[in-house]
Amino acid sequence: MSDATETFEAEQTVCPFCGVGCTIEHAGNGVATGVEGPVNERGEICPKGAAAFDPVTHDDRVTTPLVRRDGTLATAPWAEALDRVTAEIGRVVDEHGPDAVQFFASSNCTNEENYVLQKLARVLGTNNVDNCARLCHSSTVAAMSDRLGAGAMTNTLDDLQQADCVFVNGANPAEQHPVAFRSYVLPAVRNGATLVHVDPRENDTTEAADVHLPLRPGTDIELLNAVAAVLIEEDLVDEAFLAERTTGFDRLRDHLAAVDVAANAEAAGVEPEAVREAARAYGEADRAAVVTGMGTSQHRCGTDNVHALLNLALLTGNVGRPGTGVNPLRGQNNVQGTSDVGGLPGTLPGYEPVDDPEARERLAAAWGVEPPADPGLTEVEATHRFGDDVRAAVVFGENPAVTEPNANGVDSAFEALDFCVVIDLFETATAAHADVVLPGSAWAEKAGTVTNTDRRVMRMRPNAEPPGDARRDLSILTDLGRRLTDRPEEFDYDGPESVFDELTDVTPIYEGMSYEGIGDGYQRWPFSAEAGEGTDVLHAETFATGERTAPLVAVDPVPPVDEVGADELTLTTGRVLQHFNSGALSRRSDRLMAMRGEDALQIHPNDAAARAIEDGDRVRVSNDRGEMTIAADVTAAVPEGVTFCTFHYVDAAANALTGDELDPEAGIPEFKHSAVAVEPAAEGGAVDAD
Ligand code: SF4
Repeated sequence: MSDATETFEAEQTVCPFCGVGCTIEHAGNGVATGVEGPVNERGEICPKGAAAFDPVTHDDRVTTPLVRRDGTLATAPWAEALDRVTAEIGRVVDEHGPDAVQFFASSNCTNEENYVLQKLARVLGTNNVDNCARLCHSSTVAAMSDRLGAGAMTNTLDDLQQADCVFVNGANPAEQHPVAFRSYVLPAVRNGATLVHVDPRENDTTEAADVHLPLRPGTDIELLNAVAAVLIEEDLVDEAFLAERTTGFDRLRDHLAAVDVAANAEAAGVEPEAVREAARAYGEADRAAVVTGMGTSQHRCGTDNVHALLNLALLTGNVGRPGTGVNPLRGQNNVQGTSDVGGLPGTLPGYEPVDDPEARERLAAAWGVEPPADPGLTEVEATHRFGDDVRAAVVFGENPAVTEPNANGVDSAFEALDFCVVIDLFETATAAHADVVLPGSAWAEKAGTVTNTDRRVMRMRPNAEPPGDARRDLSILTDLGRRLTDRPEEFDYDGPESVFDELTDVTPIYEGMSYEGIGDGYQRWPFSAEAGEGTDVLHAETFATGERTAPLVAVDPVPPVDEVGADELTLTTGRVLQHFNSGALSRRSDRLMAMRGEDALQIHPNDAAARAIEDGDRVRVSNDRGEMTIAADVTAAVPEGVTFCTFHYVDAAANALTGDELDPEAGIPEFKHSAVAVEPAAEGGAVDAD
């Protein structure tokens, strides 16, 4: 229940939900309103943005530290809670070394907070720090960094409006990034751009599409190779671009010559003519932009999927110009910045590899201690090693017990830790395993910067004080830095601005940015201190690798991990307009719950009929990893053989069914394809909602 009171100041800040980064402020009575900002130029917001203050005042807020005594979390003074953290982490480091501690950074918190968290890990002596970009976009970052030299959107939201074709692969921006879709993609479509939507489901994005390719989950490579084959077959490639800006065309052409477009289309479950139509729309456009999301990235072959997508852009010369490029839309409001400032186990602030001696030396000059050279563990790898060589976890503003795959396994893994401290607003499913819970600050209570999906760094400003004894996250993290490391002076800051000044000094892509320069607007990375501005369109003359050319890559299909038995269906998961991630914030909004209070499993009418399931019936969804009970939504919006639900509502349920096999390069799990049995639930089967 939300206790909406007039406790908020009307200070301009940034919406805490998706990566679009709309500017909002408090309009009174606990409601947010959009104000003209760098992204939402006319003050547009979506329902989540309007409800952003609801969880801030929710009765469930943890307002005093909690310490586990005799198996139960009990309130405790800050001094006792912090002493316990210091003693327990200190003991684990003394007995097992710093690599026995895993740090979970938060893509829902500021750049400054995440910078301090990763600095704490590295000054302590470990690169074991990761964030939930691992679960969403690590494969996109891996493939794009490898080929182009940068893993972020190649272009800007603004210049999407100049596209003649928008090829949306594995994303549903109409619901997941609503302001980006309505203010940037739809205007292009209204101006005549062709919208191609590659997605197993029909959803709000499909409604605006000219071509829909409802592929079977796990067949992106078959489909994208077929599109690439048509581009070559029908001479829709850009010969001049191929000659000047790419390598490896002959090899890719030979590889694609063996692709039978009709066979690949059939494997993907789509019409061959629709594949050709999509390829022509993309290949014939003067400016064609790819927009991609987790439908592409969250597979055991997520990195290969993105490689296949990048081939389309490079074959047709759709890179380095406005209205083109490959544009991954980021999920959380600071998932981009958390990775930018070093919240990753393999890269330092600014994506410099941890094994780069020059980058480590530069940090040593700033921090007085050199970060370790060996990459740390990803967060999924770490949970697999809890209780083994990983003995303690510092979980900052994340809820891995819900968001990690094979959640039942993750649940028991947390129990195997010697010690776990959680910094959060609520007693989350992860906090249930904690030895200490430190009450942190909500988005509306903090100052700092966040970086949105098109690389814009913007300022958040506090609208309220944290409730009770809760403290601002930055002050908790700097306190931990002073207590846990032998360089306490490295964690003395005058406030978020002084942290930002330091991070811009050591993060090359942010160098030259300042709070004053950002003001009410933004500064975009890569930023040029000399020019006083950032770069809008990447890879114009040279790629971010420093090279004039980028390689084309032959990609072979990789089957999903789960084999789908004759009586089984494929479960794919995703998000809806009204809710967000594990639902810890959005399910604490009466407004959003009134709009969509319960999840439902979308199932095709033929699959439902074969199982004697009617619309609204409760069904049991299970596999050998777990099970859940949920209402059936019988609809032809999903293809036969495919079911869909979100992971917003039922703590751990959807992810109790997903597997934890990882993409070998990026470590991303296969959230988008799990084999499940679906059957009518036993009488009285209850929804396990929290
Ligand atoms: Fe917030 Fe994203 Fe909605 Fe904008 S589009 S209001 S950033 S959730």
